[in-house]
Amino acid sequence: MLQVVVIGAGQAGLSAGYHLRRRGLKPGRDFIILDSNDGPGGAWRHRWPALTFDAAHGIHDLPGMPLGEPDSATPASEIVTEYYGNYERRFDLPVHRPVIVEQVSSDSGPDGPLTLRTDSGIWQTRLIINATGTWTRPYWPHYPGRNLFRGRQLHTHDFRSAEEFRGQNVVVVGGGTSAVQFLLQLNAAGANTIWSTRRPPEFRNLAGDSNWGRDIERRVAERTAAGLPPLSVVAATGLPLTPDYRQGIAAGILVSRGKISDIEAAGVRFADGTLVRADSILWATGFRAALDHLAPLRLREPGGGIITDGVEVGRDHRVLMVGYGASASTIGATRAGRAAALKATKAIEQLSSAGPRAPAADSPDQEPPTWRRRSHPAAQSVPESADQRRIS
Ligand SMILES: Cc1cc2nc3c(=O)[nH]c(=O)nc-3n(C[C@H](O)[C@H](O)[C@H](O)COP(=O)(O)OP(=O)(O)OC[C@H]3O[C@@H](n4cnc5c(N)ncnc54)[C@H](O)[C@@H]3O)c2cc1C
Repeated sequence: MLQVVVIGAGQAGLSAGYHLRRRGLKPGRDFIILDSNDGPGGAWRHRWPALTFDAAHGIHDLPGMPLGEPDSATPASEIVTEYYGNYERRFDLPVHRPVIVEQVSSDSGPDGPLTLRTDSGIWQTRLIINATGTWTRPYWPHYPGRNLFRGRQLHTHDFRSAEEFRGQNVVVVGGGTSAVQFLLQLNAAGANTIWSTRRPPEFRNLAGDSNWGRDIERRVAERTAAGLPPLSVVAATGLPLTPDYRQGIAAGILVSRGKISDIEAAGVRFADGTLVRADSILWATGFRAALDHLAPLRLREPGGGIITDGVEVGRDHRVLMVGYGASASTIGATRAGRAAALKATKAIEQLSSAGPRAPAADSPDQEPPTWRRRSHPAAQSVPESADQRRIS
C-alpha cells in the first residue's frame, strides 16, 4: 500500500511531491501523484494565450528550482507548462497521467486506508494530499432567462482570444481581475463592452501596502476555519489599482452598469430596467474548489465549506488540503505543499512507529529513479497499457 497519494500536479501538488521526496519518501513506492491533465502545467496549461507572463499576477517559484526570468510577452500557459514539465523530470516526481480520481472513500473505517477509484484503476493509500485546484469547476451563476439568450455564452474557462469578438457587443459579468483584463482586451480588439458586477467594484491602491498578501490569507483562512466556502481573492481584497486600470476607468471601460436582473433572447436586462443588446455574454464569474471526488468522505460542513486548520481537515486526519482557501495562489500553494508533506511524513512515522526517516540528500535529483523501473504494488490492478499511458 502507498503511504501518500497526491491528487493533482499543479503548483500545490508538485510542491508537496518535492517535499515528500526530500523527507525521504520513495517516489513510486511510498507516494505517487495522480493528475487528470494530458501533460504538465496544472490549470496554467489551459489559460488563454493572451494571458502573457507579465499579465499574470506573479508566478512563484517551486521549491528547489527557480522559474528564472522568462520572456514577459510569452503566454504564461507555455512558460508554466514547460517549467512544471522540467520540474517533474528534474526531481523525478512520480506523476501518473491522465488519471481522473473519481472517488476517494474510506472502506475500512476512520483509521483504515483510503481507496481511490480512478478512470485507470484503484489505489489504496494511508493518506491523501488533495491538490486539485479549481479550474475544472467553472462557476456559472443562475439568472432567469439564461437559456433564452440567442447569442454566445462562454466562461473564463473557455476564453481563447479577444479577436473573436471584434465588432460585437459583449457583456462581461464578474468583479474579478479576469473580468477587468477581458474588458480591456476586448475593447482593444474592437469590441463594445458592458460590465456587470453585483457590487460596485472596489479598486484599491496597493502601492506600499506590504500587508496585502497577508491580509488576503488571513481573511480567507478565517472563513475556511469556520467551515465556510473560501472567498475569492477579490472578494477578500478588492482590485489592485494599476495604471492600466486607472486608464480603463477614465475611459469608461471599467465602469460597472451594476447587477443583471434577467437575460432575454436579445440581451441582458439590468436591475435599473434597461435592456442592453448583446452578441455575447462572457461569464468571468470564477471557479469553485474541485472536490467532488471527496464527497464519500463527508468532509463538508452545513455551511458548504470544509473546516481546515492550515492544511489539516477537521473531519478526517487522513486528508490534507493544499491550494484550498488561503493557499489558492502560487505562493500559498507552494507553502502549503511543504506544510502538507511535513504533516504527512510525521503522521506516517507515528503510524508505522518506525522512528524518524532520514532526510533525503540535499540534491534529491541525484537519487536513482525508482518508479519508472518498478511497478508499485498498488498499481497491479491497473492494465499495463493504462499504466504506460500515465507516464508522461
Ligand atoms: C484566471 C486565473 C488566473 C490566475 N492567475 C494567478 C497568478 O497570476 N498568480 C497566482 O499566484 N495565482 C493565480 N491564480 C490562482 C491559481 O490558480 C493558483 O495560483 C495556482 O496555480 C493553483 O495551483 P493548484 O496546484 O492549487 O491548482 P491547479 O493548477 O488547478 O492544479 C490542479 C491539478 O489537479 C488536477 N485535477 C483536478 N481534479 C482532479 C481529479 N479529480 N483527479 C486527478 N487530477 C485532478 C488538474 O488537472 C490540475 O492539473 C489564477 C487563477 C485563475 C483562475
